[in-house]
Amino acid sequence: MPQTFEKLAAPGVQRLQPYLPGKPVEELERELGITDSIKLASNENPLGPSAAALRAIEQCYRDIHYYPDGSAFKLAERLGARFKLDPACLTFGNGSNDVLELVARAFLTPDHSAVYSQYAFAVYPIVVQAIGARAKIAPAYSETDANMPLGHDPEALLGCIDATTRVVFVANPNNPTGTWMDTATIKAMLERIPPNVIVVLDLAYYEYLDDELKPDINALLARHENLIVTGTFSKVYALAGLRIGYGLSHPAVADLLNRVRQPFNTNLIAQAAALAALDDEAHIQSSVQMNKAGKTELQNALAQMGLSCLPTMGNFITVNFQQDAAPIFQGLLREGVIVRPLANYQMPTYLRITIGTAEQNERLLAALSEVLS
Ligand SMILES: *Cc1c(COP(=O)(O)O)cnc(C)c1O
Repeated sequence: MPQTFEKLAAPGVQRLQPYLPGKPVEELERELGITDSIKLASNENPLGPSAAALRAIEQCYRDIHYYPDGSAFKLAERLGARFKLDPACLTFGNGSNDVLELVARAFLTPDHSAVYSQYAFAVYPIVVQAIGARAKIAPAYSETDANMPLGHDPEALLGCIDATTRVVFVANPNNPTGTWMDTATIKAMLERIPPNVIVVLDLAYYEYLDDELKPDINALLARHENLIVTGTFSKVYALAGLRIGYGLSHPAVADLLNRVRQPFNTNLIAQAAALAALDDEAHIQSSVQMNKAGKTELQNALAQMGLSCLPTMGNFITVNFQQDAAPIFQGLLREGVIVRPLANYQMPTYLRITIGTAEQNERLLAALSEVLS
């Protein structure tokens, strides 16, 4: 019987590898007989949400018998103002992953292709293949590239674009590598992508980029009507569990995305919390500062342990152990430190480690010394 169902599935779905989430922390602790574990596996903000977001949740949760505002009107106005865009430029998603899926549904068919880099974010292949569209994977820079090991290679991405290509996905910085392109490179690449190809610039970690690496989103959108910038409340805004993200684009593109969107895809609590989180600049600042300090500390300590890390502009560090990293991952688990193995990215010697609080980083380093000794 299960085989029959497999054959009934759309061809793209049959070929899909399911996204492998980590086990729930409680389950893991039970299995390993440990308590007090720390989760550095999914690039969440270790400081947690802003107090203002929590207050906004308390003020609205008794209203959940009502449907949410399907257009997320207030949030569209607020985000529009932030980016100096008309609210008609916004598309909201149940996480920015939802927006990525809207892009695939609106623009791809089995006769079309999407281009993304090797080692790009795992959700791109999922949304492309679910539609049955063809994925064209651009080779990344090599592991030994002095500039940006395993990073997106713009020439390779451009080289993959052909007459069938409708969408190019670019993550800046990319997850799981942490690698990035500078603003001049992004601009030059956009100039060379045909205007009938949609470019998704996934800026999930935008706030963590060094200031000189932050592209001028408004200027890029003004120049490129084929551009969709995606953003999320899951990372620095620390609302991953509520699921809310957005796309910024030309209103004509947003109109198409909103046509395929479920009418109530973002929930009432998420909208209220996102609105409050946006205004809490101080919380964002301290989150970014803590990440910066933790990044330097971890990079130095890991280098001292003789480990090589990919360069990163995210809130995570991807470490190459130059050996199968699965036993190291398991060893860290037994020490109560949960990180992310990357075998599903064809990076079996790497682990991705979210930068934590100072205390969490100390625990990670102590656990790592223990496991590697
Ligand atoms: C975490 C992440 C996202 C955010 O996903 P949400 O659905 O908004 O939680 C998007 N893109 C990349 C590259 C990410 O790492």
